[in-house]
Amino acid sequence: MKTVKLGKTDLEVTRIGIGGIPIQRPPEEEAIKVIQHALDLGINFIDTALGYGDSEIRIGKAIAERREEVILATKGGWRDKKSALQHIDSSLQRLQTDYIDLWQFHNIGDFEAYEVLLKPGGAMEAAKEALEAGKIRHIGFSSHSLDVALKAVASSHFETVQFPLNFISNEAVDELVPLAKKENVGFIGMKPFAGGNLRDANLAIKYVLQFDNVVPDPGTGKVEEIEEIVNIVNSGSWELTPQEQQQMEALRNELGTQLCRQCGYCMPCPQGVVISLILIARGMRKLWPEELFNEPEWWYPKYVASGKNCIQCGECEEKCPYKLPIREMISENIEFIEGIIQRKL
Ligand code: SF4
Ligand code: SF4
Repeated sequence: MKTVKLGKTDLEVTRIGIGGIPIQRPPEEEAIKVIQHALDLGINFIDTALGYGDSEIRIGKAIAERREEVILATKGGWRDKKSALQHIDSSLQRLQTDYIDLWQFHNIGDFEAYEVLLKPGGAMEAAKEALEAGKIRHIGFSSHSLDVALKAVASSHFETVQFPLNFISNEAVDELVPLAKKENVGFIGMKPFAGGNLRDANLAIKYVLQFDNVVPDPGTGKVEEIEEIVNIVNSGSWELTPQEQQQMEALRNELGTQLCRQCGYCMPCPQGVVISLILIARGMRKLWPEELFNEPEWWYPKYVASGKNCIQCGECEEKCPYKLPIREMISENIEFIEGIIQRKL
């Protein structure tokens, strides 16, 4: 498979990687097979996060005997030095390795979080210490906020950025993708399937491959899905036909005003509603372990239940750049999750 250098790092990654969320879904044995099959097919880049349930543990088991074949990336979400150091050690242990090729600050959501991690005693000090100690080899970040990502890429602090990129959520195309190229910051394109909302692998994968400095990392929990994706990459014919462009346009029109980009611009809600996590319920349901949705007291159903505090003030809709009908979507998604819980009771 073709490879590409990830920005200014020395990491020569395959043109596509695999993301670590959906491998939590199948039985562990099956998940291990999926990961090993991806390696057999030539993929050398795996990205996960400490926060993705047992994803790191499964990956650790799958690559235990094949560590040298893999460029391994993970993420940690704590912003202070002490917790971040613990996070890194925990990831190393779970991944059964003594080094992480790329460690990323997970989901820097706003400028406050950005400043906190960079200030004295912040998580950047932990990352630098881990770098010195050889526990990690490169430092990157992920975000859903375009403003934060633009600032972080323009700074000299990070070697890679991970940001959503698909033909519905294409906010990165105009500024962030070119800026990353100019600054030689590696670009990992998360959510090539729009968080489980796109089904056509041909369209989804070909679209992201148009950007020669973007390495998409689709998540998959099935051997046949990984085979389909690899076939598209290896075909080498990534040009989109006029008919495919029309199909994409139709899907954009259909989904564009229904898809939460998790940018967080609508937050905070004065009533404490965790808006973006509620609006992605259907995608979450497809990608995360089923058990997560069964019990009302578990973290995800609890977040969704926060939507019941909505007083319909509409403040969030004024702030959403995509004009999503947030109030309506909150009600629909509460109903969706409650329906699942009811059926399981
Ligand atoms: S409409 Fe509901 S979710 Fe939106 S800001 Fe008002 S209370 Fe919060
Ligand atoms: S509802 Fe709109 S503003 Fe809020 S996270 Fe989703 S896309 Fe962003």
